Amino acid sequence: METAPLLFDLGRHTPTTRQVADLVKAGGTEALTEATRRADAARYQEVRCRSALNKVEGMPFRWTLNPYRGCTHGCHYCYARRYHTQFELGAGDEFASVILVKTNLADVLRRELQKPSWTHELVALGSATDCYQPIEGFYKLTRAALEAFAEFKTPTGVVTKGPMIVRDKDVLADLARRDLCSVYVSVPCVDDDVWRTLEPGTAHPLKRLRAVRELVDAGIRAGVLMNPIVPGISSKPALIERTIRTIADHGACFIGCNVMYLQDGTRDHFMRWLAQEYPHLVDGYERLYAGKYPPKGYRDEVKNVVGMLKQKYGV
Ligand code: SF4
Repeated sequence: METAPLLFDLGRHTPTTRQVADLVKAGGTEALTEATRRADAARYQEVRCRSALNKVEGMPFRWTLNPYRGCTHGCHYCYARRYHTQFELGAGDEFASVILVKTNLADVLRRELQKPSWTHELVALGSATDCYQPIEGFYKLTRAALEAFAEFKTPTGVVTKGPMIVRDKDVLADLARRDLCSVYVSVPCVDDDVWRTLEPGTAHPLKRLRAVRELVDAGIRAGVLMNPIVPGISSKPALIERTIRTIADHGACFIGCNVMYLQDGTRDHFMRWLAQEYPHLVDGYERLYAGKYPPKGYRDEVKNVVGMLKQKYGV
């Protein structure tokens, strides 16, 4: 395995994501000899990013920002799993155990935001991996990004499952006073068994909902995304109703929801996991997920149930 010459080539500089991908391609994750363990079992590889803001197509926003790649929350349905393969890393266990950390993110972001050509469009923060996964407590990159948005008057939408977001309610409240931010806390289902099995590394749903309440009380527009509804697991109407009632009880400003979609590496991982945990559902899934999404009729049915319950509970 030719890891030593490659590492030697990198000298003492933090590698770029491309260089990390080349290392992993040549020698597997063992080649990441500088990836360190911190409080948990994951390995954290610091990387240098060339740009902080990523332009995206076909989404309700044109810009995204992700301080980390990979996510120790390890949700089995996570659509971002497949993105890990861009770095030659696996969409399965490696997605949750080898995390890339863009240590120069704040400097690069500030340079981009102060360019006269920057149009101050909405930036989605945490679209590809959770920006408040536990390691944020150490690196504080998400906080630094929010401070830069506040300084350069850039609107942001923050998506997370991490109650740690309340740590930054001072910056978020500053942005909110100027109508520059919304927070989308992801709580697909409040049932303990569903939570444990689908989202093994996340905080309890009620902790996330308490964070929503705290943010709303601080004057921040915070709501809940019940994304994704997972057919046969979190899609039972009684579970959906319990979840919406509990969300309403916590004062969320809005609720959004989507049925799970499966593609590429995420699909492979999820189906392997399903065969292990819910073997009786596999045949049904093969039929329901002939494509990336279940048929429109199924999705409409779920949306209608959610719509009626949102009305019932006044969210
Ligand atoms: S918290 Fe979000 S980014 Fe992290 S694994 Fe779960 S769905 Fe994926």
